[in-house]
Amino acid sequence: MKCMICESSTSYYFSKSYAEPYFRAVTSVSVVDYYLCDYCGFVISKTHVEMPDDVWAELNYQFHHQHEERGLGSDINQPPYIEQALMLALLGENSIVDLVSMIDFAAGYGSLSLMLSKYFCIDLPVHDPYVVSGNKGVRYLAPSELGKYKTVINSAMFEHVRCRGDLDRVYDLVSHDGCMIIHTLVCERIPNDPNWFYLNPPVHSAFHTNRSMEILMKQWGFKSSLYSPKSKCWVLFREEVGALEERVFNINSELQQSWFYCKAGFVDYWKGF
Ligand SMILES: [Zn+2]
Repeated sequence: MKCMICESSTSYYFSKSYAEPYFRAVTSVSVVDYYLCDYCGFVISKTHVEMPDDVWAELNYQFHHQHEERGLGSDINQPPYIEQALMLALLGENSIVDLVSMIDFAAGYGSLSLMLSKYFCIDLPVHDPYVVSGNKGVRYLAPSELGKYKTVINSAMFEHVRCRGDLDRVYDLVSHDGCMIIHTLVCERIPNDPNWFYLNPPVHSAFHTNRSMEILMKQWGFKSSLYSPKSKCWVLFREEVGALEERVFNINSELQQSWFYCKAGFVDYWKGF
């Protein structure tokens, strides 16, 4: 099996059993096998990749259904939506990202869009391949309405991908002068540990490293990036880091705290694991 990021070979890394009754009921799988890229450290669940599409869809449905019954937010690690909204307001006001030509792809029920609208009066249309309407007040775009955007936001999807096309589908929405905003977990090394917390949701299939993200962003033509620990988001830019450094310095000075970090290539903020 080749790495979907750098096309190097992968090796068996470890296996994990999922205790959730619905997991085995839906998938007929008792053990999930994870493979590690020999070069970039990206880890993929071979078991999830090989699931038929209808089984994968049913697994996702059951996962969300189970968590909704227990109350959303109780034990799902939800993205920090309000911090993401504030981040967009900060970056928009400082002309670092465009807030007019913008989309939230795979936005689910549109929580970020709702918060941006309510607290910052910013309109963020959304698209989700599986959810076609959600919260009232969220503007859903149909597939036929999709175009190219200067700001493409993608929250909590990179850990759910099963093939390279899943990632490229997000990139394909970015205009030639656009940026991509990603919320996911990226760390230095994926631990060889079936009990690692990020493996707990049985719908997490892909695990990114600083090195794999550096490779991916360069393949897509992004040259610099910015990271906000508050919103746990990266912004990938087409431009060299150049003028961005001064703008980020000015924002952090104004806010009197390190809200943003930037550098050439991928901001390898998380060095742990
Ligand atoms: Zn790789």
